[in-house]
Amino acid sequence: MCTCIFCVLFSKGKPKELKIVKQTALYTYNKLIEDSELLLKQYPTALTCEIIGYSYNGRKLLSLCAGDKNAEHHVLIQAAIHGREHITSLVAMALLERLLSRGVPRGFCFHFLPMTNPDGAAISQLLSFDCALAEIYESDCKKGRSEGPMELYLQRWKSNARGVDLNRNFDAGFSKITGPNSPSSENYRGLNAFSEPESAALRDYTEAYDFCATISYHAMGNEIYYEFGDNPPVNEAGRTLAEAVAKKTGYRLVEDDGTSFGGYKDWAIEKMRIPSLTIEVGRLPAPLPESEFIKIYNSNKNLPYIIADWVSLKGA
Ligand SMILES: [Zn+2]
Repeated sequence: MCTCIFCVLFSKGKPKELKIVKQTALYTYNKLIEDSELLLKQYPTALTCEIIGYSYNGRKLLSLCAGDKNAEHHVLIQAAIHGREHITSLVAMALLERLLSRGVPRGFCFHFLPMTNPDGAAISQLLSFDCALAEIYESDCKKGRSEGPMELYLQRWKSNARGVDLNRNFDAGFSKITGPNSPSSENYRGLNAFSEPESAALRDYTEAYDFCATISYHAMGNEIYYEFGDNPPVNEAGRTLAEAVAKKTGYRLVEDDGTSFGGYKDWAIEKMRIPSLTIEVGRLPAPLPESEFIKIYNSNKNLPYIIADWVSLKGA
């Protein structure tokens, strides 16, 4: 590493354990694919990769597994189900590299799905625009759902490429979801639960393993959501996990107020009976600036170990 004053100053505060996954303002799908290949080369025995499906526009939906797939305990960590929250893909990949460099706890396999909505991330990052999007933009404008110039509208895009909010497309109180009744940059639930290839892939993958916990990274708020509806044993287990994560991250716990439905976490709790958290990172509205990354990383970097300790303590 160069030791000149500029390089020393520039690298100050950057995590030394991250050799492959680097801080950047736009952690794109292409960067994710590139880093996944480099990590697989660097950790050929500890890391495996699987394509679990394809997005509406044909991008790969990746699962990167750290640890033995025959392990006793499985944990799922998914990020960027909302396009504009793409900083969470960078956070997930950074957590993965750190976990690989420090060692996966014995008996565990951590499944990282670092970019659940790659088309949405591309719209927000690259401001890519096509005919389908033009129609949605026009409709959002007509219905007063678009604010400001087109560039801002695209940057703040949350949905997938068909204008469905993937985190409202899960079968958990689906009929109670309010909001737009046509494709939109955010909050449209879709015609039916799991109508989208991305949410269907995440559902199928979740059903394929006996997960003891799921984590969904969103932005922003520095908050942890841990319950859904009337599901006492699962919600109670989720609360103990949320408390353990809150203790290390300093994030605030938020109770379910009964107004939000159709999220991945909600479905994982209600239908799969898996203790599940939504962790909202950062203090600024998405898309978050690069400068937020280090703080988020430092708060979250021990997450896999916190979960492993929590599993060991509850004797799951
Ligand atoms: Zn979100």
